[in-house]
Amino acid sequence: MDIRTILVIGAGQMGSGIAQTAAQRGLTVLLHDREPQAVRHGLSVIQAALERSMQKGKITEADQAAALSRIQVLEQLEPDSCAAAEVAIEAAAENVAVKAAIFRELERVCRPVAILATNTSSLPITEIAAATSTPHRVIGMHFMNPVPVMPLVEVIRGAATSDEVCEMVMELAERMGKTPVEVNDFPGFVANRILMPMINEAIFAVYEGVAKPEAVDQVMKLGMNHPMGPLALADLIGLDTCLAIMETLYAGFGDSKYRPCPLLRKYVAAGWLGRKSGKGFYTYAVQP
Ligand code: NAD
Repeated sequence: MDIRTILVIGAGQMGSGIAQTAAQRGLTVLLHDREPQAVRHGLSVIQAALERSMQKGKITEADQAAALSRIQVLEQLEPDSCAAAEVAIEAAAENVAVKAAIFRELERVCRPVAILATNTSSLPITEIAAATSTPHRVIGMHFMNPVPVMPLVEVIRGAATSDEVCEMVMELAERMGKTPVEVNDFPGFVANRILMPMINEAIFAVYEGVAKPEAVDQVMKLGMNHPMGPLALADLIGLDTCLAIMETLYAGFGDSKYRPCPLLRKYVAAGWLGRKSGKGFYTYAVQP
């Protein structure tokens, strides 16, 4: 199957990044979010990112216009509007019930041959696939944040994912300029099984008064050569997403070493989600 069109569900930071990257690589993108405001915001983020690339001389004005013209907004998901998509990539909230409902909806609106991929950071692909009647075409395609910049895509098969679907997704990742790495379906896969406990531990260090956020981040940047401190990274990822990933690791392994820090729970309960809400471990100017 020649992949020309992808459907992206969720126009938040990951969905908009996936849409931008695919459009810049010549794919047509159908972009849907349940919140019209989120699509408008996602498009403005894409436009601003392309503008910056143009100012840096990385792309031309024609490249920018061509990429934007390849992104079409879908207000409703219907079989007619989704028929062109060979692949759907879901990038909605990190919640298995939300994703299962979206995948059942994707089965209704996408062609039976379309591949149904999820950008989940940690949730079991097998469980999401089991919510559908066609689990052989469900797969994990875990992009990193920010998508246009980060080269890795973790590719995760569920128990029933077919070899053909896996091969096509590896090819699609390459076509999008990424390096796919296949890993097995265990909580957090590889990336977040290693990254998120480190972030959680950094939050514990603040919670227990070992150091202030700025000091924790400086230690990891200057001492370990991390390009970004773990708390600044948590704010970038979104503290709600960080908490959801820790909950998945904790429930999935039943091991207390994965318990989410109470301070992380408190910040999420307060609506302090990091960059996207304007406040997390640091404060940010909220984008309109
Ligand atoms: P986000 O909060 O920025 O965006 C999520 C978007 O999904 C929102 O715009 C929301 O309106 C939309 N949405 C929620 N439910 C929906 C539904 N039923 N139908 C359509 N749209 C719906 O979140 P994000 O950071 O973009 O994360 C999205 C997914 O990508 C999550 O599964 C997350 O774990 C994963 N992910 C996140 C990162 C990261 O660094 N943030 C990295 C890799 C993967």
